[in-house]
Amino acid sequence: MNYSGIKYADMINGKGIRVSLFVSGCTHCCKNCFNEETWDENHGKKFTEKEENEIIEYFKKYGKTIRGLSLLGGDPTYPKNIEPLLKFVKKFKENLPDRDIWIWSGFTWEEILEDKNRLSLIKECDILIDGKFIDSLKDLNLKWRGSSNQRVIDIKKSLKENKVVEYI
Ligand code: SF4
Repeated sequence: MNYSGIKYADMINGKGIRVSLFVSGCTHCCKNCFNEETWDENHGKKFTEKEENEIIEYFKKYGKTIRGLSLLGGDPTYPKNIEPLLKFVKKFKENLPDRDIWIWSGFTWEEILEDKNRLSLIKECDILIDGKFIDSLKDLNLKWRGSSNQRVIDIKKSLKENKVVEYI
């Protein structure tokens, strides 16, 4: 899996101060995508154990000040990204069980439920921002998403209640 960047002390992508990992690979081709260069799965650098450990060490260094990890792209649920992210997320949670994980996907909650690979990754996370960016529905006032079709979903509650439970 390749990634285009890691943003430390990120205060935009999710609640609180976070570390955001932008992975490469996306098939959604949303018009006026904010991050078009990440559509190519070969964009950026290889995400290795070195990067995994750097992120985990950063969390340990700054303690609870850093609230959680955000996975963006590209699309973290792009087929090639699922397995490496699943491995990383499990390792992250073993080391930092009290932090939250937010994930963005161009697929909707309903589409993810129908795909067991995507679901296996989503299940390890806490909040999902779902769906493509739709330019005609763009709204700059929205928190953590670009267009009004996208939802901020509480994953654990939604799975438990068998319906979409929105976080905000
Ligand atoms: S899902 Fe995200 S990264 Fe992919 S094309 Fe749409 S806005 Fe861009």
